[in-house]
Amino acid sequence: MKVGIDLGGSHIGIGVVNSQNKIVEKTEKRLTNVEKKDIKFNIEKFTIDTIKKLKEKYEISSIGMAVPGTVIENCIMKSVNLGIKDKYDLKQIIESKLRIPVIIRNDAKCAALAENKSGCLRGKKRALFLTLGTGIGGAVIIENKLLNTGKYPGTEIGHMIIEKDGRKCNCGKKGCFETYSSMKVLKNRLRSELGFTEKTRGEELLQMIRNNKKVNAKTHEEKIRYEKIENTIQEFIEYLAIGISNLVNIFEPEAIGIGGSFVFFQDVLLERLKKEILHKNLLFNKRDEIEIMPAILGNDAGIIGATI
Ligand SMILES: [Zn+2]
Repeated sequence: MKVGIDLGGSHIGIGVVNSQNKIVEKTEKRLTNVEKKDIKFNIEKFTIDTIKKLKEKYEISSIGMAVPGTVIENCIMKSVNLGIKDKYDLKQIIESKLRIPVIIRNDAKCAALAENKSGCLRGKKRALFLTLGTGIGGAVIIENKLLNTGKYPGTEIGHMIIEKDGRKCNCGKKGCFETYSSMKVLKNRLRSELGFTEKTRGEELLQMIRNNKKVNAKTHEEKIRYEKIENTIQEFIEYLAIGISNLVNIFEPEAIGIGGSFVFFQDVLLERLKKEILHKNLLFNKRDEIEIMPAILGNDAGIIGATI
């Protein structure tokens, strides 16, 4: 048995994964705001305590960790989501306490491997995987393996520049893909266009998009509101289509998987995205179909992928 750990900014999931890539037992923990202040201590404590208990029940051969951030050669270099700003050798800490080998990788790459093995990209030798959430993460699968990028993590899909002198990104550059096409950006732009605060939840915004139909907009105010929502979605789709088509032109994947909170919005975004990519003169090699699949493993993708 292998143990997969999904580390998030406010949540830790630990699962025992069998040789068929199925989770047989899972333990989860929400981190409180107080615990987040000492996140390293709490990650280590929960991980070590949980695995010690699991060791009594299972023969554990290795531990895999999926981390939202930059990982170089099994070492966490930086993670904005975890609030870790400098090098953090979690592998060494866990290995010294548990005497089980630890592998640490970026969470989008873990999710890509899991979706390729048993999720939306199953059976595809060449695939792209994007996580559209707070930012944009990604991975390139070639011959069912992650593209080998050597010393550097690579596949920083969210940080390819798609607009010269564009919006400022957290990474320090300008015009990065994720400053136009992350789900966080879409939600925040909808909130600001409609005069809502941060409190308006994604679920409410989704409902608004679903109900946003031209025929329903009768009064002047309703028409303005319709246009605002429509234009915000259209702008988001246009940038997303540019980013994805650039990747398709380079890699020609058999399919593209998209995870993150995009999955919840798939009924209002997916068909529009495909149409935009196919019909807006973005692809070098023209075609009638493009396979874009929403991720299906959800929160389990990190746990499963960490053990692959
Ligand atoms: Zn960037």
